[in-house]
Amino acid sequence: MVYCSVCSEELSRTSTDVPALGHNWGEPDCEWSGDNASVTARAVCSRNGEHILTETAKSAYAVTLEPTTEAEGQGTYTAAFTDPVLGTAVKTVPIPRIPTYTVSFLPGSGTGSMEAVVTAAGDYLLPKCSFTAPESSVFRAWSIGSEEYQPGESITLNADTEILALWQKPAAPGLSAAPAEGGLSFTAENYPEGARVVAARYDGGRLTDLRIVSPDAGTLAMKGSGTEYKLFLTDSGFRPLCPAWEG
Ligand SMILES: [Zn+2]
Repeated sequence: MVYCSVCSEELSRTSTDVPALGHNWGEPDCEWSGDNASVTARAVCSRNGEHILTETAKSAYAVTLEPTTEAEGQGTYTAAFTDPVLGTAVKTVPIPRIPTYTVSFLPGSGTGSMEAVVTAAGDYLLPKCSFTAPESSVFRAWSIGSEEYQPGESITLNADTEILALWQKPAAPGLSAAPAEGGLSFTAENYPEGARVVAARYDGGRLTDLRIVSPDAGTLAMKGSGTEYKLFLTDSGFRPLCPAWEG
């Protein structure tokens, strides 16, 4: 019903809906926990400061921009409140750029040089050694701290790192053999590039066949006759590398 505001006389019998004034919430303030795992939102009604809407929600974290060695990345915490007035709280945090470290190579008793590498922190694949070995030595391993690693192994870089080449005397060349169908089977080991196996067959002291094969051939067909054999492992200039095998 509507009444005159002056005399209170009834003006109309039609009832009118006058909605109660709702809350008028201000922008919510958000307070994040120290670890950003949760956030508390608080909104105050502009019509009555004693009307306060507050809710705490857990957040979810996602990397929204991967960091690189050049630039920071970004992570985003998102928390949705059940009350639509409070909506969703979002907080972004920087992710530090990936540091780079210098890897340098030391020849030890070897010679030559290897270029230092500046590379991202994290996994680093050890390269082949391109230093020159000292006289009558071969590469053994890379030494980092007190550990030894082989080229192709992975290390975790978290500081500038010096990598030292270790050398050793090569294992002695060796040759062994056994009679096999139609000739011999043999095993040569620790021989230099260009090495050969020279095989001779004898019959009562008389040479009946002579062959030169690669040391990795493994088997050797021999013509001629006789049951005595002599095998030599030689370098590319036919200088013997170890005592001959006789059988
Ligand atoms: Zn209110």
